Amino acid sequence: MAIKNFKIEKDADGIALVTFDMPGKPMNVLSADSIADLEAVIEETTKDETIKGVVITSGKDAFCAGADLTMLQHGAKDYQDQIKAHGLEAANKAFMEQSSRASRLFRRIETCGKPWAAAINGLALGGGFELTLGCHYRVAAEKAAAGLPEIKVGLFPGAGGTQRVPRLMGTPEALQMLLKGDQIPAPKAKAMNLVHDVAPQGEIVARAKAWIKNGGKAIAPWDDPKFKAPSGKVFSATGMMIWPAANALYRKETYDNYPAARAILKCVFEGLQLPMDLALKVEARYFSNVLRSKEAAAMIRSLFISMGELNKGARRPANEPKTSIKKVGVIGAGFMGAGVAYVSANAGLDVVLIDRDQAAADKGKAHSDALMSARVKKGRATEEKKAELLARIKPSADYNDLKGCDLVIEAVFEDRAVKAEATKKVQAVLGADVVFASNTSTLPITSLASEAAKPENFIGIHFFSPVDKMMLVEIIMGEKTGPKALATAIDYVRIIKKTPIVVNDTRGFYANRCVGRYLAEGHLMLMEGVPPAMIENVARMAGMPVGPLSLNDEVALDLSWRVVQATKKDLGAQAVDPAQEKLIKTMVVDKERFGRKNGKGFYDYPEGGKKKLWAGLADLQDKKLDPDTISIEELKQRFLAVQAVEAARTMAEGVVTDPREADVGSILGFGFAPYTGGTISYIDGMGAKAFVELCDRLAAKYGDRFAPPAQLREMAKKGESFYGKFGAAAKAA
Ligand code: NAD
Repeated sequence: MAIKNFKIEKDADGIALVTFDMPGKPMNVLSADSIADLEAVIEETTKDETIKGVVITSGKDAFCAGADLTMLQHGAKDYQDQIKAHGLEAANKAFMEQSSRASRLFRRIETCGKPWAAAINGLALGGGFELTLGCHYRVAAEKAAAGLPEIKVGLFPGAGGTQRVPRLMGTPEALQMLLKGDQIPAPKAKAMNLVHDVAPQGEIVARAKAWIKNGGKAIAPWDDPKFKAPSGKVFSATGMMIWPAANALYRKETYDNYPAARAILKCVFEGLQLPMDLALKVEARYFSNVLRSKEAAAMIRSLFISMGELNKGARRPANEPKTSIKKVGVIGAGFMGAGVAYVSANAGLDVVLIDRDQAAADKGKAHSDALMSARVKKGRATEEKKAELLARIKPSADYNDLKGCDLVIEAVFEDRAVKAEATKKVQAVLGADVVFASNTSTLPITSLASEAAKPENFIGIHFFSPVDKMMLVEIIMGEKTGPKALATAIDYVRIIKKTPIVVNDTRGFYANRCVGRYLAEGHLMLMEGVPPAMIENVARMAGMPVGPLSLNDEVALDLSWRVVQATKKDLGAQAVDPAQEKLIKTMVVDKERFGRKNGKGFYDYPEGGKKKLWAGLADLQDKKLDPDTISIEELKQRFLAVQAVEAARTMAEGVVTDPREADVGSILGFGFAPYTGGTISYIDGMGAKAFVELCDRLAAKYGDRFAPPAQLREMAKKGESFYGKFGAAAKAA
């Protein structure tokens, strides 16, 4: 078989340089194809007696991005077919064989009898880094980075990662690395004992070869019978200090919602008690189980495949010509505008930042200065980069400075008249053809667009706060918004490296509608008499990153009060639950508790101290439930179902048209329990029928906010799923 993905060059010293370079691909990945080739490379170099040792490197910028996740996804799907065709036992065996193939291969490198050194020229992630861990020596380029990010998509490093890492460093550090999945820059990787040497890019291959020439041994440290793991034995005094704490920390961080995280603990705990070959078998068994889990399937789909597709502009109108965005105007240099200016300049765009007077505009630019200064202090940016970025932002009070802007984003006060005036002033300078975007969070885009000379060029680009951290951007289509505006908005969001979802114009758009339900559920539980601490803890147990009361304090309670009043005004009194209204009114109007911003909300924020739930909350509860009589399971279901049913409504109303966007948007926008794969995957995961039954039960007990939309009821009857019904059509659009 001809080897396509690797090149082998033997030098005069008998060292084979193996270069991983997949033809026609921007990145090397471990696919069925490249794994088969690597198997052939190992056989060939092992057999050839003139070869003394092997250096493996890559012909791309990165070393290897890891396993081809679509291959893993298909593998899990094929498994179901295999069960039908050959029965459970045979299917399990075949799946195990397949899912442990890379692991066996890397062990083969480690035990082939010839020294292998990895010259890590760039990013080495997941299986790509595990490949190098199977080598006997690793030298990384100064600019390279390594990491095992599998946990982020519901998997874990199942090709030796959970065994080799805790044999290279102490168990607590190893667990942290495996459970966090962060990228580790080369110098830090060396300090952590993950690589042996760090060298300038041009020298890594020579250094790897020199190691072989100088007698580098073809045996891994752990294959020496005298080997001792850095933290010693699991059952030892040290082990007893480590493991109970590790388990407690794991529970605190995950509430046991992530099978992959649990498997990491098990693999390390059990594996460290075994010799390498057996340890790898244990790891392989857990890996094949996790790979088939509902959580992994949902997370791979939403957080890797769908997110990747959206990031590439899946929703961009195909026929719209390429845009050229070099300079953007940002109107309003307040809280949001300052953030938009920063992310734009950080992406290399020139920014004109306009406010009512020069001082306000300068203050907006100072936000970028502060963010960059913090990055410089942490060693994440240089003074030079900071100066470059700041030079790209021109603060001004003169709209004439907008000349030459390819896109304008407005973030002035949430006031129709102020926004209309800004639109007119921009058009007076740039004409009607420039794409104009509003960052409004509540005003319908269609009505704002009516102030523009050409509403087809008017669109919503809705950021989340803090702008520099939040990765989601909602793009909102007004009734008349045209394809040029959409293409421009998507291209812009791609430039700033955030994830766009495209939604149709409605009150609260998508994310705020769902998260508003989450906050309200917290309020209503409080008024029912559920202890506040229980509300907060159970929300996190359900998988939400922060409790609803905490989140509300961050968003600001006076904002919630304004939303409650606006909702009543626009939709009628029945649109707001009186219990919720009473709570927010008491907090804001009577007690002046606005949230973190004035140091008092559902929590107290003592200066320099830790926040604490406000003791006065108990007095606001007319009745108090006995915690022992409250079903924790039901509280968890309420938190997730109330958001998911709102997401189902947005799909039924055509606000969101693509399940991928609902899912990705829910995780990135408001942290919806990531292990579910998002709001819509949560429903599909349990099945429409079971979800409708759950909603009906909750609606009967707690009210119509749980009532499923007719479309979902219909889907339940027909046994349909969102991805089955809308997935293919949305992809093709
Ligand atoms: P902000 O009050 O912090 O900033 C508004 C800025 O606009 C102020 O600096 C003000 O001086 C300036 N401004 C007012 N009129 C102007 C004009 N005619 N020309 C130029 N500048 C003018 O408000 P913010 O929180 O940044 O919100 C801005 C917009 O973003 C609002 O539409 C809001 O709904 C939306 N938004 C806010 C958030 C959030 O979390 N705060 C999130 C998403 C969207």
